Amino acid sequence: MRPYLFLLLIAVSFSSAQQWPEPDPCGFADTTSLEYLLAASGNWGYGYDTLLYDLTQWRQSPFVTVDSVGLTVQLRTMYTVTIQDTAPDPLHARKRVWVHARTHPNEVQGTWVTNEMIKALLADDTLGRTLRQRYVFNIMPMYNIDGVELGGTYDRENANGVDIESNWNAANPQPEVLVLRAQFQKYMAMPNPMAVMLNMHSAYACRRYFVFHAAAGTSPLFAAMQERFIGYVRSFFPGAIEPSTYMVSWKTGPALQYPESWCWLNHQEKIMALTYEDGNCAAAGKFDSTALAILKGVDAYLQDTTAITGIFADASGMDPRDFSLGQNYPNPFNPSTVIPYTMEKEGPVTLTVYDLLGRESAVLVRGNVAAGRHTARFDAAGLPSGLYVARLSAAGRSEAVKMMLMK
Ligand SMILES: [Zn+2]
Repeated sequence: MRPYLFLLLIAVSFSSAQQWPEPDPCGFADTTSLEYLLAASGNWGYGYDTLLYDLTQWRQSPFVTVDSVGLTVQLRTMYTVTIQDTAPDPLHARKRVWVHARTHPNEVQGTWVTNEMIKALLADDTLGRTLRQRYVFNIMPMYNIDGVELGGTYDRENANGVDIESNWNAANPQPEVLVLRAQFQKYMAMPNPMAVMLNMHSAYACRRYFVFHAAAGTSPLFAAMQERFIGYVRSFFPGAIEPSTYMVSWKTGPALQYPESWCWLNHQEKIMALTYEDGNCAAAGKFDSTALAILKGVDAYLQDTTAITGIFADASGMDPRDFSLGQNYPNPFNPSTVIPYTMEKEGPVTLTVYDLLGRESAVLVRGNVAAGRHTARFDAAGLPSGLYVARLSAAGRSEAVKMMLMK
């Protein structure tokens, strides 16, 4: 949950013992109550040991890779769970979806939803299989491990007493922030960078909602992307998730301190980054339905090619329908071949050849290309026989053709 400055000021001015967030009819009205202390001492129902156990269960699936990616302040290992089909993806056709949970230790409902997402992604059913084939999911189920383990007053903070949700613009960010940021940087440098980033929380409002970033703080395009995504998610769990107008942030400009801020400031419309808030209250539940709605929403959003025009339009004004790639000729070939492509509009494109392991063999075109029909020559004199893939990329989309080199 995002603190509001005015509530923070009220909390500070009225009672120094008061915990953030402000007490609410939902959740724990009294953070000094026995009920609250019991929940805190029990890691709010899901501690690090439980995560470690779940990791051993998840990694039994052939679709799961568990990686240790860094250390917390108190030197606990931070983990990511990567889920995708076992078939290799040399074309990098799988779009990447990032999810992290448990920034705020007492917001355990975000963990329940995330764990249900993992369960659905591993399921041997149509949805699970489809999602694993189409996407790579990188999930950090527990971001603020020390806070979860320390309990009590660390219900929003890491072991240094810092809220790592809102520390991203600090001169010296907390170790956990640096670990998460390094993950973002690593994945954004890949041929299939993060297309969706979800930051899983729960809020005392006892509603389910996404924290929408206003166009004033981002762009009309980004606002439209969020609207479309939230609309899809809601359609898969009717009446249960609030509309995008329910919680609007960044009304006068982007805040600089959040993970979403990092995404926006560095990658703009390339990452559809949102915080999700489940209900932090006794009435919360249906985590499985929520998880399914979010996953189906991710799929609908990323498969929405009819509405893609404009979403990924770049500064050149190109949109994904403005170029096409043809089959190379001759094919099979030895040692060179010609790859035709057409530009409806002038704009920046990249035409790259990969081998079947996804290694770059040649970059044939990189830069601005005029409208019209073009060809690029691929000379494979120094390369071994086999299948190669030519991939033309622009405006957030790629087309690929397979080419056979026979020597
Ligand atoms: Zn939160």
